[in-house]
Amino acid sequence: CGIVGYVGSKPALDVVIEGLSRLEYRGYDSAGTAISADGKLTVTKRAGKLANLREALAGTVPPDGSQDGNTGRSGIGHTRWATHGPPNDRNAHPHTDCTGAVAVVHNGIIENFAALRLELERRGHELSSDTDTEAVAHLIEEEVAGGASLADAMRRVCLRLEGAFTLVAVYSGEPDLVVGARRNSPLVVGVGAEENFLASDVAAFIAHTRDAIELGQDQVVELRPSGVTVTGFDGRPAEVKEYHVDWDVSA
Ligand code: GLU
Repeated sequence: CGIVGYVGSKPALDVVIEGLSRLEYRGYDSAGTAISADGKLTVTKRAGKLANLREALAGTVPPDGSQDGNTGRSGIGHTRWATHGPPNDRNAHPHTDCTGAVAVVHNGIIENFAALRLELERRGHELSSDTDTEAVAHLIEEEVAGGASLADAMRRVCLRLEGAFTLVAVYSGEPDLVVGARRNSPLVVGVGAEENFLASDVAAFIAHTRDAIELGQDQVVELRPSGVTVTGFDGRPAEVKEYHVDWDVSA
């Protein structure tokens, strides 16, 4: 339903939670975050309102932000509107692979998820949710375990997916990077100074920047503090057009 991603110098958790709260008006049944810090991902997710997620995070992150969960400078977040699997903690996004090195959030539906899950199970993966999304996390993990960068992994996996999707992923091995992809589902980049944003809707980052890039069909974006790179699923560089959001966003 709602997606937020951030890389920069601010505490990523704060930026991601604030972005998710600006997308609350769209409706959702669960929420979660994955923050990249010190070479590992911290994933927290809860069924129900953002208040439940905030409560879960409050147990692990002190208000001064000194603990690892809040020192991360990159992260992703999601509010879910369940299509595959009931709304519970387990099915909430982000979804991870078996190792916890890759975390993925997803809007939309992966139509060929059943075949992909079966294929993964045959190769020894244990899937822990009922969602169409989780297969993507395991497929990306296989690619990075084989030596691919997160961006290459995302491009390769997207070529195997059918349906409508916005996907955003982080990988513990590349902490200053958030990768997004889209087909038949919206994804917008917010361009800042030494920080960049990703969201399903500009409302999520409008408080930080009004310079935006709308991702085209079948494109992948690499988001780093220093800049933004966009390619097609085939890896070819794509032309991007920046625009300024000069309308009022009431959310
Ligand atoms: N199909 C995914 C799920 O059921 C994503 C739903 C959404 O767009 O929030 O978990």
